[in-house]
Amino acid sequence: MNIYTTITEVRQAVADARATGRGPIGFVPTMGALHAGHGRLVETAAARCGFVVVSVFVNPTQFGPGEDFAAYPRTLVEDAARCEAAGAAAIFAPSVAEIYPQPGLAQVHIQALGETLCGASRPGHFTGVCTVVGKLFNIVGPDQAFFGAKDFQQAAIIRRMAADLNFPVEIVVCPTVREPDGLAMSSRNRYLTPPQRAAAPALFRSLQAAATAIRERRPAANDVRAAIQAQLADELPEGDVDYIELVDPHDLRNVQTTDRPVLIALAVRLGKARLIDNIVVD
Ligand code: AMP
Repeated sequence: MNIYTTITEVRQAVADARATGRGPIGFVPTMGALHAGHGRLVETAAARCGFVVVSVFVNPTQFGPGEDFAAYPRTLVEDAARCEAAGAAAIFAPSVAEIYPQPGLAQVHIQALGETLCGASRPGHFTGVCTVVGKLFNIVGPDQAFFGAKDFQQAAIIRRMAADLNFPVEIVVCPTVREPDGLAMSSRNRYLTPPQRAAAPALFRSLQAAATAIRERRPAANDVRAAIQAQLADELPEGDVDYIELVDPHDLRNVQTTDRPVLIALAVRLGKARLIDNIVVD
């Protein structure tokens, strides 16, 4: 497995792989600090594609002022070992200057889907995500790109961006990988103190309880939201709820009733971490 830092090198590696019949080309964009959730994405990609590129790039344009861009963990040596073990053929780990040699005047902004949930509390975040993923798609030129359902809104937005802008890439969304106690794996879990880490599985427990209530009783969305809020106040009192929303999984619009498939998504600040999780109830 090779690690490339320049656009020219990674383009050449992908071109060589195609020329020698090693496609299809799979692509897993990440910000590094990789865990088993990322590993599963790479394994899935490697099972479907002959040549898998993983990008490791902490993208400054998707962080807001006061967010954790500087503090975000950078662990390229460990990341490379995980990628190789999972079947990646190459890592693309560019510098910020390689990706943004000048201030970008062109950006990809996605309406509606990008303005709710995390988009409401992190203005500009999804414009940064779409712009960098669009650039990476143009650099790597993958046939298939792999995203995690943990970032459900992000995956929905990228799928829509690829459709609207005719990127010739199939978007594959893989299930959320969890710790044994249910906490969704995240590079930001390492910000948690031991007591916070011990309490954090309350997030997924509250989503599971809500899913059970929906399957059994079809309560109104407001009642589901109130029940999650109450459970978190009880089990995770240190958590500061950013949002708890019930939305249509296709267009991410708020729903009032739970008699059709619904995505329950939440974001909670816990100490230095902002944790997100979600569950789809069919
Ligand atoms: P990140 O490095 O956090 O930007 O994530 C890179 C990719 O890994 C995104 O597509 C995420 O949705 C995905 N990912 C992160 N955590 C998980 C997880 N626990 N399970 C599955 N995919 C994940």
